[in-house]
Amino acid sequence: MKTSITHAILETHQGKEANRILRNCVHCGFCNATCPTYQLTGDELDAPRGRIYLIKQVLEGKQPGSLTQSHLDRCLTCRNCESTCPSGVDYGQLLDIGRQMVSDQTQRTISDRFKRLMVRKLFLTRPLFNTAIATAQLIRTFLPSAIKRKIPEKPEKLLDWPKTEHQRKIILLPGCVQPALQPNIDRAAAIVLDRLGIQTLRIPRSGCCGGISHHLDAYDEAHATMKSNIDSWWPYIENHQIEAIISTATGCEVTIKEYGRMLADDRNYRDKAARVSELSQDLSEYVAAQDKTQASATHSDQKIAFHAPCTLQHGQQVRGKVESLLQASGIQLVSFQESHLCCGSAGTYSILQKTMAEQLRDRKVQHIESAQPDLIVTANIGCLLHLQSGTHIPVKHWIEMLI
Ligand code: SF4
Ligand code: SF4
Repeated sequence: MKTSITHAILETHQGKEANRILRNCVHCGFCNATCPTYQLTGDELDAPRGRIYLIKQVLEGKQPGSLTQSHLDRCLTCRNCESTCPSGVDYGQLLDIGRQMVSDQTQRTISDRFKRLMVRKLFLTRPLFNTAIATAQLIRTFLPSAIKRKIPEKPEKLLDWPKTEHQRKIILLPGCVQPALQPNIDRAAAIVLDRLGIQTLRIPRSGCCGGISHHLDAYDEAHATMKSNIDSWWPYIENHQIEAIISTATGCEVTIKEYGRMLADDRNYRDKAARVSELSQDLSEYVAAQDKTQASATHSDQKIAFHAPCTLQHGQQVRGKVESLLQASGIQLVSFQESHLCCGSAGTYSILQKTMAEQLRDRKVQHIESAQPDLIVTANIGCLLHLQSGTHIPVKHWIEMLI
């Protein structure tokens, strides 16, 4: 694709990157075929190729308006288009650049800004979020069913954190919302890792990966969160005490894998951020690289459907690892149609783009239910809760199946 990006933008690191990415695109439109939002609206501007054109226009000096912003907002950042693109276009990176530029040049409505601020404050203020969830769980029976299905019941029993110290160690990022909503997921991961002779370190100062702020236009806040995480992890990295940095939420893991790119302009942090990204591994990659027979408890003959989050199969390009671990433990996996498509959760998308998120969820649930599984498992807290809100089949994290 020919570009004529303005000189001022081309002089920046982001401008150069955007130019490189745009020039790889050959307008073929193959990516449109696997774009979930295009399948829903049929509008080229809700497809990757159309969004690429919109971003190109902004880079070439066209003033963006609210229409451009809404088409970029509607993107799920599922990156299915990257998996489909034969030319290797880094759409996700280009979208990040485009969204940031559009956000700098447009003013959102007051209600949109308020909503985004509230979501950030609620999700990122741990005592507030914990209190809100604890209260909702207390009065869950009386809540309207639409809300009730989004609030998981308090677990009957909390799993114990393993106490054994091991030479081999990893850092586990707790994330922002998962500890309050599904506290047993991280505990299950620590139990499986302990069985493999690996100790799980939880570093008190680290929490959110920075993804929530990043997706809600709060770029400075996102970078500050990333740098704070790096500072709290650095002593362990510097002293070669850990093998990997892991999150049980693929949405967080994909963000950590991009710290190096996102902080590339920061002279003080770029090298450390790149090292953190090198150490970042998806839980499934890490566990699958160990002795599978040790990792898996022998399991029942339940029929299970695995929904691979987009942040796993497209964002991280990690495929087949969870499936092989589950099968090694005796689980019978069932396949279903359109397993490559997003479920509509996509971080805060299910809150900010409710209608499309629910359409995608219902489509996904319909396909999964046709395969008649006893249980659905996934790898990301957002997908787990979003799917659960649309089905009566229980939804769990895959790591819980190995304990
Ligand atoms: S498939 Fe790739 S090269 Fe073709 S239009 Fe989409 S992004 Fe561009
Ligand atoms: S990231 Fe997903 S929703 Fe966005 S353009 Fe690509 S395929 Fe479509």
